[in-house]
Amino acid sequence: MTAVPDDHAKPWETVRRGMLLLMSSPSGAGKTSLSRRLVADHLDLTLSISATTRAPRPGEEEGREYDFKTRAEFDAMIAAGEFLEWAEVHNQYYGTPRAPVEAALNAGRDVLFDIDWQGAKSIAEKMPNDSVRVFVLPPSWSDLSRRLHARAQDTDEIINLRLERGKGEIGHWGEYDYIIVNKNFDGAYADLGHIYRAERLKPGRNPWLPEFVQGLAEE
Ligand code: 5GP
Repeated sequence: MTAVPDDHAKPWETVRRGMLLLMSSPSGAGKTSLSRRLVADHLDLTLSISATTRAPRPGEEEGREYDFKTRAEFDAMIAAGEFLEWAEVHNQYYGTPRAPVEAALNAGRDVLFDIDWQGAKSIAEKMPNDSVRVFVLPPSWSDLSRRLHARAQDTDEIINLRLERGKGEIGHWGEYDYIIVNKNFDGAYADLGHIYRAERLKPGRNPWLPEFVQGLAEE
């Protein structure tokens, strides 16, 4: 059998093992814009939609940014084992539903997570071979503060809570595979695209390779 495929069924286009791209940063460093753009630009990359007990911000829609839940609904999901991981962040609960992640991986699609360090660590520990961790840093702390105030989505009190928590978040940068300093969106986005592309080329994510190489050797 030859492993050289016809034009319609290149194995590298069809048989792939998905990855979990775990993105963390202090709030306001640009992680959400970067991740949404990467998802928009890649058909086989989906965003994991978390459940949360926090209230929607202006402009946020149910099922797009988050599945917004009451505390009682969230507790029921925990009890039913529906979360891959969950955590308390900023006095609210956030959790990653398990079923859509497993469905995507099984279909050979990648899943991007906009997630704090606790969630990233917990998922990476459960699925080490599938996880790629990326941390986004702001170019300066004053820049981060400026961005949080400029987006005008939160009260000063919440912004201060986010900034304070961000200091703790950046302490975990050493646990990540890649660090992007978001000096400007285009540069940071190019870095993210290179990381994603390179990770897709890892042998373990391309189970078609052994047969393909054997075919090359036998030609
Ligand atoms: P925000 O309220 O600004 O949308 O998110 C607050 C923090 O919660 C961010 O650091 C975000 O990455 C994190 N987060 C969002 N979804 C999840 C999740 O499913 N699990 C965990 N552990 N953290 C999450």
